[in-house]
Amino acid sequence: MSTTILQSADESHVSKACQTYSITTTQFHALHSRSRDAKATAYCPYSQFRVGASILTEDGQYIDGANVENASYPVGTCAERVAFGKAVTDGHRKFSAIAVATDISPPASPCGMCRQFIREFCELSTPVFMFDKDGAFVVMKLEQLLPLSFGPEALPPLGELPSKA
Ligand SMILES: [Zn+2]
Repeated sequence: MSTTILQSADESHVSKACQTYSITTTQFHALHSRSRDAKATAYCPYSQFRVGASILTEDGQYIDGANVENASYPVGTCAERVAFGKAVTDGHRKFSAIAVATDISPPASPCGMCRQFIREFCELSTPVFMFDKDGAFVVMKLEQLLPLSFGPEALPPLGELPSKA
């Protein structure tokens, strides 16, 4: 498992990460800038902790999101789930990469709830790029962020629930 901090301004870091995770450098820089810019759309009057997310669909589209908080604190929603909600309700089901950006350093990772939410829609090999305030980043596969995960394929087919006997 790699938690090496890389630099988005270092093209050797970027090109190596892109080769490893099968995206183009153009897609990488788009994911970085879009997740960073999405922070500006956050509604976070309580934490003041802005998070932006951008998702790359398999057919090359980007869907962005940001965190949306609530006066009843636990009701607030993270940037990743906002972005995936938009993507899924727009009909997207296959994704190539995920990016999240915050105003802190080192890079922050998706919370546990978001890791599970992402797991519903992404292959375990899907890369998650995590950017800090200065563009440094860590990238890990979903499988590394959520080992031994539970996904839709674990459920029995509808109508075939095991008997209680
Ligand atoms: Zn989250």
